[in-house]
Amino acid sequence: MLNIVLFGPPGAGKGTQSEKLIDKYQLVHLSTGDILRGEIAAGTALGLEAKKLMDAGSLVPDEVVIGMISSKLDQNKGAKGFIFDGFPRTAAQAESLDKMLKDKNTSITKMLALEVNNDELTKRLLIRGKNSGRADDQNEEIIRNRINEYNNKTAPLKNYYSAQGKFQSIQGIGTVDEIFESLCKNIDAGKQIA
Ligand code: AMP
Repeated sequence: MLNIVLFGPPGAGKGTQSEKLIDKYQLVHLSTGDILRGEIAAGTALGLEAKKLMDAGSLVPDEVVIGMISSKLDQNKGAKGFIFDGFPRTAAQAESLDKMLKDKNTSITKMLALEVNNDELTKRLLIRGKNSGRADDQNEEIIRNRINEYNNKTAPLKNYYSAQGKFQSIQGIGTVDEIFESLCKNIDAGKQIA
């Protein structure tokens, strides 16, 4: 299986690149942000609870997103692999993901981290906010909180995957196609070694 964690701060381009990667490698796209927005749209209790935190730019509790990923893994038993987009975001999530994959006799192949500076991220998110209507993309203070959450809780996961020899940094500034090409080069290089 090819299991990729597509990593990076909000606005780094994870969603855009995930869409292209799933097409090329025939993978299942698991975005916890998309799943949560689906729960909100469906008006579930989980969605209502998560919305408050998401609107403030804070992370939702680990057990909520871990449970969501666990059921998605069970629902996609025949998959060739997965792209994890926006998950894991904390050490507890990364450890749980390793356990869940181990139980299925598989593991993370690689963590590819899109690197984009804070000014560029804020600029991109404000533009996305105007186009998509996402509440958490429209206010600079909320954006700052999301970037802080990323720096405090999520960025340290680079060390977690580095210790497993799976971390790879990718320049996240450039055209969508240029960035896609560097991601593919990395994935394909890993395949030759494996
Ligand atoms: P995203 O679409 O990945 O930027 O996620 C939007 C929001 O959903 C985040 O700001 C969090 O509030 C929540 N969220 C998404 N994924 C996670 C996760 N893995 N852990 C905690 N909160 C998450």
